[in-house]
Amino acid sequence: ILEIVGLHKSYDNNVVLRGIDLRVRPGQLICVIGPSGSGKSTMLRCCNRLEEPSEGQILVDGIQIMHPRVNLNEVRQRIGMVFQQFNLYPHLTALGNVMLALKKVQRHPHPEAEKRARKALQQVGLEHKADSYPGQLSGGQQQRVGIARAIALEPKVMLFDEPTSALDPELVGSVLQVMRELREAGMTMLVVTHEMAFARAVADRVVFMDGGHIVEEGPPEQIFGAPQHERTRAFVSRFS
Ligand code: ATP
Ligand code: MG
Repeated sequence: ILEIVGLHKSYDNNVVLRGIDLRVRPGQLICVIGPSGSGKSTMLRCCNRLEEPSEGQILVDGIQIMHPRVNLNEVRQRIGMVFQQFNLYPHLTALGNVMLALKKVQRHPHPEAEKRARKALQQVGLEHKADSYPGQLSGGQQQRVGIARAIALEPKVMLFDEPTSALDPELVGSVLQVMRELREAGMTMLVVTHEMAFARAVADRVVFMDGGHIVEEGPPEQIFGAPQHERTRAFVSRFS
């Protein structure tokens, strides 16, 4: 459902991605791990052209997103994105935040947008917080609103960039739980994370990136239990 082929990205003469090939099949959850600066965020951002790839092809739900005449609006509606920072509008309630793109981008009339937004809030366990403002919510709750905002648009694939790393430790679990449930509901997910226990327990496959390459990719038992590459071994051993 998401296929990345030969992806390169440079900023001026700083080469950040050096040929990434990655495929995410429907219903899979793939975790991406790797040291800071290895290009994880850049790879995710290339998938909806928040960054322009220097070279390579990316297929999202059958659409070649590097095609010169691609409708980027349409592509971006098929890809939900959740970042480390929640980026909610402080002057809108949780419900208002989730409804915004439903109305402005997908042009649903208000009652339909509200119905979909309430359903999405229910999926993240926050239907009772619909009328709260972001400032009245914990970090974990804000991030779950962020997830609701993305899933309300019914994307084909969800990209997460360290969704829990801005959270206090005691709030991480609730967000990971929502991601687990999404996965059980059949969502296709590509997740950059430092939560090794989550990756180990939930991922179908784990991708280890370093220096703009995929160094190793495999089932979690391999990456965490029997890594094939020295660099993978050195990286995962820091977390065990
Ligand atoms: P982290 O774990 O710290 O989030 P990462 O693996 O997500 O790291 P990226 O954010 O993809 O790494 O960054 C990879 C490299 O690209 C870094 O060396 C960074 O300095 C560079 N880079 C990222 N964004 C830009 C930009 N907009 N302009 C120039 N260089 C950039
Ligand atoms: Mg990053």
